[in-house]
Amino acid sequence: MGTKVLLLAFMVLFLLAPVQSAEKVEQTEEYLSKAIEFHGHLGPYLVLGLRAGLYANQILGKEPMETEAFIKSKTTPPESCFADGVQFSTGCTFGKGNISLEESQGLQVTFRKDNKKLILRLRKEIIEEMNSLPPQEEAWEKLAKDLYKREIKKIFEIL
Ligand SMILES: [Zn+2]
Repeated sequence: MGTKVLLLAFMVLFLLAPVQSAEKVEQTEEYLSKAIEFHGHLGPYLVLGLRAGLYANQILGKEPMETEAFIKSKTTPPESCFADGVQFSTGCTFGKGNISLEESQGLQVTFRKDNKKLILRLRKEIIEEMNSLPPQEEAWEKLAKDLYKREIKKIFEIL
């Protein structure tokens, strides 16, 4: 009878334990709020950086000391806001020197850890979608929230 109670207790614990993947656990409203607090405002490039970084964590494992991130984009806001999303999610920081930002057309990030490499390139459709947005802040926030939930492969080409 003691064993049955113990077994039941384990089952209850197991059912209560969150059994979600790393990205799902982190990709919550609360996580986004913390990132906004870090960055200062909600924008699509912040969210794109978060999504890229969370995906890299999932594929390569989150190792803030061992991962490197190389970003190629415009080096001024709003494009450069992407770097804050990557810093927040991966722990690669300018202070540690394991993230870089290089002036370029388009937007691409390469993650490197051990001998593994992951490249995410922002899809042209997304760039066009952003270029066609009205200047109002609400429109940008709406797109940012939408990009937070959109399927990763519809946002980036994964190389
Ligand atoms: Zn920003």
